[in-house]
Amino acid sequence: MKLTNRSKVVSNKKMTVGEKLYLPAILKGMGITMKHAVNTVVNGSQTIKYPEEVKPRAKVWRGMHVLKIDDEGRERCTACGLCAVACPAEAITMTAAERKKEDQNLYREEKYAEIYEIDMLRCIFCGMCEEACPKSAIYLTDRLVDVETNRGSFVYGKDKLVETLENRIDVSGRQSEEQKKLV
Ligand code: SF4
Ligand code: SF4
Repeated sequence: MKLTNRSKVVSNKKMTVGEKLYLPAILKGMGITMKHAVNTVVNGSQTIKYPEEVKPRAKVWRGMHVLKIDDEGRERCTACGLCAVACPAEAITMTAAERKKEDQNLYREEKYAEIYEIDMLRCIFCGMCEEACPKSAIYLTDRLVDVETNRGSFVYGKDKLVETLENRIDVSGRQSEEQKKLV
């Protein structure tokens, strides 16, 4: 049964002499190349010399995640697992642990993520984890995932995901007014 009208019937029509010479196609291709060459001369190069130059990103850009801490430096994540359940790519894994008394300055809640990992090769940067989190603990940022040379290095743990007090990541552009009031 035909589901769409997108398919085309292919005909084996004989090529004309011009088509056999490929000249029209070659001239057409050269015309496009010349058009771009003239455009570059007139308007300057359109090439961004990345990474020295970085193209401005849209406000809705979703890049590498950050696990947030509160103003006292305690991790907000309580290892509830909602982000992992919401993740359509099954990119998030974690191991929960109970907070020890002496660790109250490290973790905000009695349960915390001892291990928290995101496989950046699986992630599709959809932002569902961010939406699912009841603790405002995870946000996507405008940072890029690093270039790595082996697959295992793309599994980012807490060492790469958790922000520090000295290097807080601004996520105010992605927070609701209520979330902005949280400390
Ligand atoms: S951004 Fe989407 S795919 Fe990536 S970890 Fe979050 S929920 Fe999963
Ligand atoms: S990041 Fe948020 S949703 Fe995910 S485990 Fe931590 S508290 Fe739960």
